[in-house]
Amino acid sequence: MIRTPEWFARCVAFPLYERARGRATLREMRRCAAELRLRPDALANLARERLRQLLTFAARELPYYRALFAASDVRPEHDDPYTALQRLPVLDKATVRAHARDMTWAAVPGGLQPAVTGGTSGDTLHFFLDRRHSARNMGARLALQQGLGVRPGDRRLFLWGSPIEVRRSRWRLVRDVLLNERVLDVFDLPPGRLDAYLDFLRRYRPRLIFGYGSALALLARRALRRGLTLLSPPRAVILTSDATTADERAAVRAAFGAPALNEYGSRELGIIAHECQQGRLHVLTPLVHVEILQDGRPVPPGEQGQIICTNLAGRAQPLIRYAPGDIGRFVPEPCACGSALPVLRLESARVNTFGVLVGGQLCSDHALMGPPRVEPSIVEFKVFQRAVDRLELSVVVDDQYTVDVAERLKRKYRAFFGPRVQVDVRVVDRIPPDPSGKRRCFVCNVQTAEAHGHPRLAPGELTSAH
Ligand SMILES: [Zn+2]
Repeated sequence: MIRTPEWFARCVAFPLYERARGRATLREMRRCAAELRLRPDALANLARERLRQLLTFAARELPYYRALFAASDVRPEHDDPYTALQRLPVLDKATVRAHARDMTWAAVPGGLQPAVTGGTSGDTLHFFLDRRHSARNMGARLALQQGLGVRPGDRRLFLWGSPIEVRRSRWRLVRDVLLNERVLDVFDLPPGRLDAYLDFLRRYRPRLIFGYGSALALLARRALRRGLTLLSPPRAVILTSDATTADERAAVRAAFGAPALNEYGSRELGIIAHECQQGRLHVLTPLVHVEILQDGRPVPPGEQGQIICTNLAGRAQPLIRYAPGDIGRFVPEPCACGSALPVLRLESARVNTFGVLVGGQLCSDHALMGPPRVEPSIVEFKVFQRAVDRLELSVVVDDQYTVDVAERLKRKYRAFFGPRVQVDVRVVDRIPPDPSGKRRCFVCNVQTAEAHGHPRLAPGELTSAH
């Protein structure tokens, strides 16, 4: 295994790479670390000032917000920013889609960076980020990780499920070696791959493991079942992107011998909150303003409601009072860790699952969402697994959609899962939310998998498929 000395990655490769990408990530890391040490009143002033700057910017540069502020009697240069914010409506994905051009700043320094998200909701959104947003988010992550004893350039291991059409290029692999990063693809997990990943993990000895909570829990349970321990445990394991149970986090802690900490965020907003060693989720107020609303009105601390976020860093396409689709509450009591950052408790968040495919493969639902997500003519979708060899997609489409798109989807799924997989694509007018109000875009019919004589996939016991 090729190893890059950590001092080289930290002092040479990482700073050069970030400079080449036009991102002041290390400066943002130092700035964020200093901000997180501020006293509560200084922190509050900083967050207020950043919100005021954002509103003033939006009124000046973005026609959508200029018109909205005028209609809502908001004057950013005069009003208290928090009072002004409460006069504005909640922003949903449909509104972002409808007014994308008028809320995008084409002249943003460094240029617009296109991005797409669907989360697990299947409600695809195309939007723009910018370099400052990326640098500030990565800087915040690095600052938090430094607090856990992991420096830039230290060996990091990521567990992601890459979409079917994005395979890692040779250049990407060279970059990973130089920066001391490795990615394990949890796109699909056929029997034996978990063991191969555990072997890699033991040889690579990362100082930080970062990835989908569901995939990390799967790997941890496999390690515990085999009685494997890490001779050189990481400093921390960061679980992101999907909600995990207390049992799953306990398995991760036991298997990897390190704290298992949650990160809460989304592609369009960036990092929102990070769990401390006391197990509390702290909102990163220098980066994002979070409100809890019920029926459009703020609720007192401790009460549950809709989580509403305003990202303070990005300028490409600012999302002001945006609803990521999660429910939560502020915890009024201060945290024992001593942080001045408010504590957020998630009551419901995205839940990820795995599908079972022909041959006993386990497949992350992130992967199943890849093909429809990258089709611009698909507005919303939901994937149903009716049997191990049958996928059904419901899609809501715009006027650019043609039958070629459906054929392309089928080809992509079959190219990966084999010609036996039957894929049905249905165009529908709307996709109703679940009874809970949440929108999940992947539904797996477990009983069908069992009836076909394939390994059983029991809730919370995914490794039984092996
Ligand atoms: Zn804390």
